[in-house]
Amino acid sequence: MDIHNGSLYWPTTYPEQGPRNVPERLDTYDVIIVGGGMSGSLSALALVEAGLSVAILDKRQMATGSTMANTGLLQYSNDIMLHELIDQIGERDAVRFYKLCFESVKNLEKLAKRLPISPNYIVRPSICYASTEEDVEKIKVEYETLKKYDFPCAYWGQEEISDNMPFSKAAALVTYEDAVVNPYKFVHGVLDLVEEKGGHLFEFVEVNDVITEEESVSIRTSAGEFTAKNIVYTSGYETVPVGKRIGSDINRSFAIVTKPISNFNDWYKQSMIWETKRPYLYIRTTPEGRIIAGGLDENIKHAPQSLAYIEDRAEKLSKQLQELFPNYQIEYDYSYGATFGESIDNLPFIGQHPTKDRHYYLLGYGGNGTVYSMLGSHILRDLILCGDHPDGDLVTLDRKYGVK
Ligand SMILES: Cc1cc2nc3c(=O)[nH]c(=O)nc-3n(C[C@H](O)[C@H](O)[C@H](O)COP(=O)(O)OP(=O)(O)OC[C@H]3O[C@@H](n4cnc5c(N)ncnc54)[C@H](O)[C@@H]3O)c2cc1C
Repeated sequence: MDIHNGSLYWPTTYPEQGPRNVPERLDTYDVIIVGGGMSGSLSALALVEAGLSVAILDKRQMATGSTMANTGLLQYSNDIMLHELIDQIGERDAVRFYKLCFESVKNLEKLAKRLPISPNYIVRPSICYASTEEDVEKIKVEYETLKKYDFPCAYWGQEEISDNMPFSKAAALVTYEDAVVNPYKFVHGVLDLVEEKGGHLFEFVEVNDVITEEESVSIRTSAGEFTAKNIVYTSGYETVPVGKRIGSDINRSFAIVTKPISNFNDWYKQSMIWETKRPYLYIRTTPEGRIIAGGLDENIKHAPQSLAYIEDRAEKLSKQLQELFPNYQIEYDYSYGATFGESIDNLPFIGQHPTKDRHYYLLGYGGNGTVYSMLGSHILRDLILCGDHPDGDLVTLDRKYGVK
């Protein structure tokens, strides 16, 4: 299955990533991780730093799955607003989940500073505008809810928006202490750290079957058998031999990356921009002065095969961007379509398989996938080491829309 197609931008920012050296395989690992993207690399780092022997197996080159298509917006707000999540799971749990996301953004920032290569992590605000007049109330309620729980945010009316941005909308929620990152460089940096700390990385090794033994798991792969005490699936939007995602929707999404723009003087702190409509348009800038815009999600599982169709979607995104920024000359250099997974209840899947011992999952489905990858790496580390994590119940696989 192709999980993206078209011309991707991030590999051009960190070229010449040849295959990694093949390590000498251990007889048994404490943990084998299936998938070397954002979730797999962060989990491996958390586990090697806890002193465990860890290997990552990936059927592709590391970091070339969905991670390479990720547009790199990091926000504590989620696709489901806090007040909506309160209606869904209750106030205590919803606020706890949002606090965990806030903390995970901070943890990503701390880690970015430790990486051997700079992942261009930049703290930025986010502006979520009301797509329609009817959504103004929604923005107000969300602002009040976030404020009540001390999340850093502001409410902007029409005047403040017009004063700070080249477009006008009826209302917007501004959240602070969010960030943008280059996810491709970030994951390569994390993988370098994992290798440095003794983790093993095996590229082009596909996991085909997993047999649960009494005290270990036997992992049948395209490169023979591996043995581990525990297995972690961080395989992204693709299916693996064990576990059925009963609570996920696999769709596809599109993105463009413009030619550099000379300045962003009329754009408040180069904030990330998104909106209340679903699917939403989302926008950020890059250190090179480019704009990345994404959206136009479609209910189709496979990444688009037709380049003409990707071009058509890219033109549409480009028009939407031009409407918001009439003074910029919007021309794009890169455009692509990619598979994108969401969970039905808007929460990631993190934890132990409900019936299979020693099988763990980290699937950070949703627009906030990177934040979930960070959160999940800490939860899984504690589950594997101590059998428990105080917040594991929020994202457990053993829920109505979980993994079976
Ligand atoms: C267009 C787009 C924009 C996005 N923008 C954002 C954003 O702005 N912010 C954000 O937080 N998130 C965003 N996301 C989501 C983000 O990309 C994902 O959350 C993230 O990449 C998931 O990382 P992962 O490690 O779980 O998956 P992946 O990066 O896909 O890694 C999974 C790996 O598993 C490997 N694999 C799968 N099956 C097997 C097997 N059987 N054997 C061996 N290896 C296997 C694959 O080869 C792959 O490398 C975006 C996604 C898309 C598509």
